[in-house]
Amino acid sequence: MNHSHAGSCQCGAVKFEVEGEFKRFVLCHCTRCRKTSGSNHCANLFAPGGSLKWLSGEEKLSFYRLEGTAFARTFCSICGSNVPTDATQTRGLIAVPAGSLDTDVELGVQAHIFMGSKANWDEHIEDVPAFDTMPS
Ligand SMILES: [Zn+2]
Ligand SMILES: [Zn+2]
Repeated sequence: MNHSHAGSCQCGAVKFEVEGEFKRFVLCHCTRCRKTSGSNHCANLFAPGGSLKWLSGEEKLSFYRLEGTAFARTFCSICGSNVPTDATQTRGLIAVPAGSLDTDVELGVQAHIFMGSKANWDEHIEDVPAFDTMPS
């Protein structure tokens, strides 16, 4: 089975390829993920033992780590998009923001985590009206 995944940032400067099988797929509602995404959760894929290759824009990458924690983000310094973090040294895995991928993901979302920290408006959002595009 081919476990190659490709992705890019919003502005297109950064392009990457992840080799490895995604074993974990979680939506994290913790305060850090809410801050970094500007949304109600991050969508994080994890490929243990995987590898990450930058196809372009490696010199445009910025890196952030919250001191004393495993919380780390790699992002495009032009457009700010989150892209994968190579956590091989610290956690033995590649962490991939699902929204950065341009290829389909076979694994389904497995869990919502840190629901105890979720935003007060993050309630029953699957029940509100849904539109295919911006409604007029
Ligand atoms: Zn970019
Ligand atoms: Zn989180």
